[in-house]
Amino acid sequence: MAEAPIVLILFGPPGCGKGTQGKRLAANLGIPTISTGDILRKAVRQGTELGREAKGYMDQGQLVPDDLMLGLIDERLAAEDARRGFILDGFPRTVAQADGLTRVLKEKDFEIRAVTNLVVERELLIERITARRVCSTCGATYNVRTLPPPPEGECGDPSVGCAGENVLQRKDDRAETVERRLDVYEASTAPLKAYYGGRGLLRDVDGQGTPEQVFERLQAAVA
Ligand code: AMP
Repeated sequence: MAEAPIVLILFGPPGCGKGTQGKRLAANLGIPTISTGDILRKAVRQGTELGREAKGYMDQGQLVPDDLMLGLIDERLAAEDARRGFILDGFPRTVAQADGLTRVLKEKDFEIRAVTNLVVERELLIERITARRVCSTCGATYNVRTLPPPPEGECGDPSVGCAGENVLQRKDDRAETVERRLDVYEASTAPLKAYYGGRGLLRDVDGQGTPEQVFERLQAAVA
């Protein structure tokens, strides 16, 4: 008999480690991580209609409207590689998105296994986000304090086979936008803790410590 698909939601504020942990979990479970932020950034780079519509919101640290996000997720979850399950990073971010996701999952006859809430203090979130640097080609992430990018801004991450592009600070990772993103998270996204908590799906995970320590806790929470 085929195994039941795994659906996991990585939840938590910007900078809590969803991207880093999502990559590890995906490698471990053999299912893709679907990061709506990554999909939007690619659309912006490629100048697609979605990218043009989303860019202004993203640069301001605001949420992209729900109808655009639901269209995007509908399409992405229909892809072949999502048949055996997926890990969501950065979606849902509003109650309307969570309701939309519930509908899509019902159509597919998929169930959410867990919603992991990575808990990190605000001060540390700000420190992590402003220190973050990202390779604009392969998406590899660095931290100017704990994992400095290779010299001259060239990404040479052999594990992703990136030929070497500029490693940059995301526009919305600059200090002036970070506070707004954290406020938007508290106002629009944090209420989802009650949404999923009420369904018995929320698992708080201590998101502070080394990536290895957090990954161990995360694995225990989704087992
Ligand atoms: P992230 O990489 O998840 O921090 O997302 C970067 C930016 O993309 C956010 O600040 C939003 O502007 C936009 N974004 C990503 N995911 C969503 C979502 N589910 N709903 C609305 N906006 C989103």
